[in-house]
Amino acid sequence: MGTDIEAVIFDWGGTLTPWHTIDTEALWLAVADELDPVNAAAVAAALAEAEALVWARARDEHRSGTLAEVAELANVILTDPARAVYELGWEPHSLTDPQAPAVLLGLRERGIRVGVLSNTIWSREYHERIFARDGVLGLFDGAVYSSEIPWTKPHPEAFLAAVAATGATDPARCVFVGDRLFDDIYGARNVGMRAVFVPHSAVPPHQVGHTLGEPDATIHNLGELLPLVDSWRAGPP
Ligand SMILES: [Mg+2]
Repeated sequence: MGTDIEAVIFDWGGTLTPWHTIDTEALWLAVADELDPVNAAAVAAALAEAEALVWARARDEHRSGTLAEVAELANVILTDPARAVYELGWEPHSLTDPQAPAVLLGLRERGIRVGVLSNTIWSREYHERIFARDGVLGLFDGAVYSSEIPWTKPHPEAFLAAVAATGATDPARCVFVGDRLFDDIYGARNVGMRAVFVPHSAVPPHQVGHTLGEPDATIHNLGELLPLVDSWRAGPP
């Protein structure tokens, strides 16, 4: 018996974008150099430490944070020029997977809603600017950025918020696609969603969670998603 799939919801980093290992120390040093060239090394270290603290809290307590909070913890005021340096540093690492537009369109053509749920310290405005740059902003029915809610994946409330954001009503008829076995796969299965694993990402050891979820399926590129979804939707012959 086929399933009526309401929505497919994607993780962002490492799923809708190809995974890159980022040299965050170099990135924070460039930002610090813009803010305070004399004390750049110390400012960079404070920013890196603050960011690590926010992500450790996400891993251990599933509580979200923001870039503004990272700056505040580091006793730094993130000026517009410093923010521009930060965004420039991220630009080559935020590119949408070239296969994504066709996959998102294919889902929409099937009457399936499309969503995003990202663990992120960035604002919606910044994420939407990236999607607009890559021509995919209009392909999403809904998005939840953890920076806007109290939780991060794998907290159930994050997933339920994303389901609701797409306009879907039943997590059991929603599919989650992600690159992390804890945040994405365990989290999605925990609320009754189907979970598809994209195992490309070199998740840093300190970001691995306490449980590794079992995916319903594994795909090696986004192009494999539509046939998989079709196989789940297919009714009896
Ligand atoms: Mg990811």
